[in-house]
Parts: sequence; structure tokens; C-alpha cells
Amino acid sequence: MTEQLAIGVDVGGTKIGFALINRAGQVHAEMRAPTPVAAGAQAVIDQIAAGIQHLLDAATQPVTGIGIGFPGHIDRAAGVVRQSSNLRWRDDVPLRAEIHQRLNTDHPIWLGIDANANVLGEWYFGAAQGCQNVIFITIGTGLGGSAIVGGQLLQGANDYAMEVGHVQLDANGRQCPCGMRGCPEMYVSGIGFRAGVQEHLPTYPQSVLAGIDDISPAHILRAARAKDDLALAVIHEAQEWLLRTLVFCVSLFNPELIVIGGGLGLAAADFFIVGTEAQIVQRTLPMSRHKLRVVASQVNNSAIGAACLVWHELA
Ligand SMILES: [Zn+2]
Repeated sequence: MTEQLAIGVDVGGTKIGFALINRAGQVHAEMRAPTPVAAGAQAVIDQIAAGIQHLLDAATQPVTGIGIGFPGHIDRAAGVVRQSSNLRWRDDVPLRAEIHQRLNTDHPIWLGIDANANVLGEWYFGAAQGCQNVIFITIGTGLGGSAIVGGQLLQGANDYAMEVGHVQLDANGRQCPCGMRGCPEMYVSGIGFRAGVQEHLPTYPQSVLAGIDDISPAHILRAARAKDDLALAVIHEAQEWLLRTLVFCVSLFNPELIVIGGGLGLAAADFFIVGTEAQIVQRTLPMSRHKLRVVASQVNNSAIGAACLVWHELA
């Protein structure tokens, strides 16, 4: 029997994930390749096209379309990437046209912001199945968000809704590279963790982190679990800023589910997920969070979410 297949591509700052899935979310084939960021946009597009071609060749059934989850600002209608700081793309890149040129096929290609692809993955095949109002928060190098509101993916007038990493929650907060102060990303992310260590180190000179040259979030989590004062200060600050961000989202959208994902979000689940529901209860009106649950993401391959951009467009 013929079944429809979709290809998903998750473009990250260090690697690109590819998956070929069917309507039920079963993975027929997958692969990963490094992102050649330093070699420039054309090299990255070559890599994306080569991965798609590999899965097109592997497909034993017709491929309905291709979804690409992308970090940055995109124009979905035009198929153009406007800007991506992760990939250091500053000018417009006509991604869809460039890939079509390389593939020599006319498979439809849909672009989506990576966090939107993630929430679709959870909605179709993960923690958010059957939910109508969902907030997805991804904590990694940066902080991102997306939402399903009333059974619809929230996109915004400029394809830029749910930019929770840069909601200015404290005009006197830490300086963010975006130009504003007090953005949650400067606290709840790998970038934020490092900024926190730098800021608080003078207060805790005895910290084990003081002797480490290139501090990673893994170092900070390990130190926090060993009760290091500096690491705990950074984590507690991150917890507070995550909570402020979530309370803001809960009050605005009245979700039934918050899904927390991203590499750091899952690695720090004991700090960022466990107990968060009870904390939200203390800072929101009962009507806003009456049905609310806070859970970890379940779809462990973001390329599956990217493939859901296809199923979402065809729904
Ligand atoms: Zn910012």
C-alpha cells in the first residue's frame, strides 16, 4: 500500500538533522551532518540539499514535501531567510529557491522557525498530542518559544511570534546582544549561564568554577549538584527568570500544557521542570492555570518536528 512520506530538516548552529517519516511519525531513515557555518551560506545550503537528496534516494514511497526548521528570522511566503545569528547569515538568503536549484525536483518545501517545528513535533507525535493550547519552551544555547493557541500554530504578522527570549522583563537587567536589557535569554540559556558566572564570580571566588577556563553549562550543572555556591546562584537566577517567562505566557495564553525541551532544558530538568508547576500556581490567577501541566519534551529528534511542517501545511 502506498503511504505518504515527508522529509524534515532541522538546521542547527553545529549540526543539521534529517528525517524521513510517515504520517504516523515513524522514522524510515535519518541522518546527521555538521553545519559548515564558517564556510558560508552556500556551503550550508549544499549540505542541506545533499542530505535531502540522500533521503529522497532512500524513500521507497512517494515523498509529499520537505519541511525545514530554521534558527532565525524567515519569510515563509517568500521562502527566504532574512537573518540568522546562529549561522552568521546577515543578508537575505533565498533558501527555498537555492535548494530547488540543487535538487532538480519540484517537491514543495516549507520553511518554519525551529521552535515552531518543535511544537508541531510535540503536538503531532509527542507530549502535546490532543492538546489545543500549548506553550513550548526550548532552552539551549539560547532561549526560544512557540505556541499552539486554540488548535492553531501561532505565527505572528511577521512570522516572529513567541520570541520569549527577548521579552524585556527588567529594564535594569543584564545587557543582551540584541540591544535591550533584561531579556530572559541572558539568564535562562547557555549564554545566560556563562554571563551569570562572569557576573557573580567576584562574590564567590572560592567556587570550583573559578579554576575552569572554558565553562560549559555541563560544568555549571555538575557544580550546582555538588552544592557549589556560585553554580547555585546562577541556577537559582535562571529558575527565577524562567518562572517569570512562564507566568507571563500562562497569564496571556491560559495553556493546558507547557512543554520544556532543548538540550539544556532536558539536561537541567531537575531545576527547570520538576516543581515548576507548583511555582507557577503561586504567581498566577487560578483561572489562568486551572488545567495546567508542565512536562518535558518527548520528541528527541528535531528533524521529526521539521517534517511536521509538511503535515501541518497539508492538514
Ligand atoms: Zn535580547
